[in-house]
Amino acid sequence: MDDLKTILNRIRKPLTFASRDNFAHIKSLADPGLFIKKQIDDLKHVTNVTDDLREVERLFSDFDRLAPELKKETIIKASHLLDAFENAHKQSGRQVSVSGQETVPIRSSAESPAPPALKLDTPIQYCKGIGPKRAELLKKLGIFTVEDALYYLPWRYEDRGNLRKIGRLTYGSYETVSGKVVSAEVASTKRQRVKIFELVITDGSGMLVGSWFNQPFMKKAFKPDQKVILSGIVKSNPYRSGLPQIDNPDYEIMEEDEADSLIHTGRMVPIYRTTAGLSVRYLRSMMKTVLDSCGAMVPEALPDQLVKKYSLMPPAEALAEAHFPTTEKDIDMLNRGTSRAHRRLSFEELFTLELGLALRKRGVTVEKKGISFRNIGKLESDLRKDLPFRLTGAQERVIAEIKKDMISDRPMNRLVQGDVGCGKTIVAMIASLIAVENGYQACIMAPTEILAEQHYKNISAMALLLGVTVRSLTGRLKKKDKDLLLSEIGSGAAQIVVGTHALIEQNVKFHRLGLAVIDEQHRFGVMQRSTLTSKGYEPDVLVMTATPIPRTLALTVYGDLDVSVIDEMPPGRSPVATKLYFESRRGEAYRFIESELRKDRQVYVVYPLVEETEKSDLKAATEMAAHLQKDIFPNWKIGLLHGRMKGDEKEAVMASFKSGATHLLVSTTVIEVGVDVPNAAVMVIEHPERFGLAQLHQLRGRVGRGEHQSYCILMGPRMFAEEARERLNAFARTNDGFRIAEEDLRLRGPGEFFGTRQSGLPDLRAANIIRDVDLLEQARTEAFNLVQEDPALAQYPGLREALRRKWQGRLGLINVG
Ligand code: ADP
Ligand code: MG
Repeated sequence: MDDLKTILNRIRKPLTFASRDNFAHIKSLADPGLFIKKQIDDLKHVTNVTDDLREVERLFSDFDRLAPELKKETIIKASHLLDAFENAHKQSGRQVSVSGQETVPIRSSAESPAPPALKLDTPIQYCKGIGPKRAELLKKLGIFTVEDALYYLPWRYEDRGNLRKIGRLTYGSYETVSGKVVSAEVASTKRQRVKIFELVITDGSGMLVGSWFNQPFMKKAFKPDQKVILSGIVKSNPYRSGLPQIDNPDYEIMEEDEADSLIHTGRMVPIYRTTAGLSVRYLRSMMKTVLDSCGAMVPEALPDQLVKKYSLMPPAEALAEAHFPTTEKDIDMLNRGTSRAHRRLSFEELFTLELGLALRKRGVTVEKKGISFRNIGKLESDLRKDLPFRLTGAQERVIAEIKKDMISDRPMNRLVQGDVGCGKTIVAMIASLIAVENGYQACIMAPTEILAEQHYKNISAMALLLGVTVRSLTGRLKKKDKDLLLSEIGSGAAQIVVGTHALIEQNVKFHRLGLAVIDEQHRFGVMQRSTLTSKGYEPDVLVMTATPIPRTLALTVYGDLDVSVIDEMPPGRSPVATKLYFESRRGEAYRFIESELRKDRQVYVVYPLVEETEKSDLKAATEMAAHLQKDIFPNWKIGLLHGRMKGDEKEAVMASFKSGATHLLVSTTVIEVGVDVPNAAVMVIEHPERFGLAQLHQLRGRVGRGEHQSYCILMGPRMFAEEARERLNAFARTNDGFRIAEEDLRLRGPGEFFGTRQSGLPDLRAANIIRDVDLLEQARTEAFNLVQEDPALAQYPGLREALRRKWQGRLGLINVG
């Protein structure tokens, strides 16, 4: 016979699987009733089958017929019941409360062994009442250690602090009452199997019913005369002559003299984001335990003078207040994360972030000498003579900033930020010419092959008359050609080399690399300077990005870079007119496209692609192209471009579109970066709701590059979430990339927006770089000053330790402490 644990695990396995990734696999759980019944029958041989287990069996008896939401609830509930059963079994004799309402014993119980000494980096499972299984679930929340738990802050709060007399409750409002248990009974309704647990309490001024649907096991949690606190929306119970009732109240059972340690109600209550198998209530109890046992260990990392200057509360106090507020009464401040406690935590986090950046920047600027380019101007003025346009004031300013860097012997490490189409390529070209004029090579790297091709075309065209040799290194060169090219790069004969980011990662040996231009488009810090230096190069570095973000944010995200902004468009650009269409008006959109085609304009139709490898998405784009060609625009030539095509196929498709031979180009998002066809005047975006705003803006930037009025058509699907509609309308209203980026940041949050992991920055747990932009600026100034005074942080061992913990390996070249 299998043992208890084995059998329980057998039951858990399908449940865990079904609940993984937010119940992605719930459909795989078909008719589990018989299986679970059999397991529970097996359990009868090894243990007493309790009510909890019978409840599990019952929950699954008719599982297939439940609505999806109820299925989820059932699984969660069953997981709780199994946990409760197992705990009760392990610690038989010790009182355990059950199901969704499990609690961590707040006070240590006499019979438990002396706990091992906890430290901040102790794995969370060694905390009292947690154990390996819950630790697994906590990992999903990013909680691995005691410290992670301490910094796992509530995402909102509820004010359950205002106790009301039952006799004076307002129906329909959220209220909190305290009282004594009068009765705790399970009632059955007429409809079969539905059980309602009803708790009746009184506070002398009246009686109130707490009602729990289908949770008969709750009965065990309450005893008559116990003192409890309940919170929730008050309604009136029609069967009990209109007694006030709260459905599914949040509750807290008060032990004698425990009024001080209320955590679930009767106070400002923290609400945590959680995951299947962990209730908010459980997390709250756990946080209380962790805070009580370890909160005080959190050291003060900030220098005294800053603590005084900004009157910051001690970190232990700030953590306690952020989890279980006692002093902050303003719920909005708490919910926005701007209470004194929150700001203290945010400041410390931002300060350590900026300190790391300051050290990294110092490492770049102080330790190594850069190239001092002396010869400036000859090639540039030749280039300017041939330009068909005059540079904008913003371009001139940025070029001047770059020149200053290149002349100086500090290595240049500069970010050029400017909206799509503002003319960054020419700026990169002029910088490259300076390198060439001084006998160095320049490389220009783009995130995709298509974009690299395009840079190559533009740049080699400009270089032709100057007698400068430009080469492009792509993945599809024949072996013979590649060898030749590599030798040209190695000898210095190739003066400007264009390619993808892989250019530097592959084993390409430059003769004398003087400048690296990294075009990130709207990505963030994908390539770090350290990638270059680790290959033994010490070139000046110019990073270009099309995402306009507020300056302080740019400084922070790119940390050790200087920032230049091209905030002016070349003259004569007219804004793209953007319209949101719905499926029902698709015919109208097609007629409009036809009229533009007749005017000799060209058209893009873009399909979202979740991943380049997803066959079904590709199929959609392929079928769309065929459908448009056959049924809608038979008289026009339609092309198809996607990321799985070979380099020369892509090339041929693009060339045909650029020449005007192809009129309409159906494409996946490979088109989004930098492609330049001035005659294209219409951009149709299918499923625009699947794109981020910044990405939509990039796509829209493919049109409006010529003299013609251009249009962007967003083809919304039949079913359309209100929120998505609002977002897209906001997008349609403005062409200002800066506003769009801010809105995007607001909607998606900084983590997703910047892809912080990619950019190599530590995650922020308390701070939010948008909300706390004022703190960010203070923190930045203070951190840079401090590093100026004491670059080794010799006087600040606490800070060194905090840096080590927060940044771990991510400080790159810098060795801290
Ligand atoms: P991006 O900043 O998106 O990389 P590009 O460098 O590709 O922009 O420039 C977009 C287009 O604008 C190109 O066709 C380029 O030749 C043109 N351009 C650049 N600067 C100017 C200018 N000052 N006046 C007019 N056209 C310009
Ligand atoms: Mg560009």
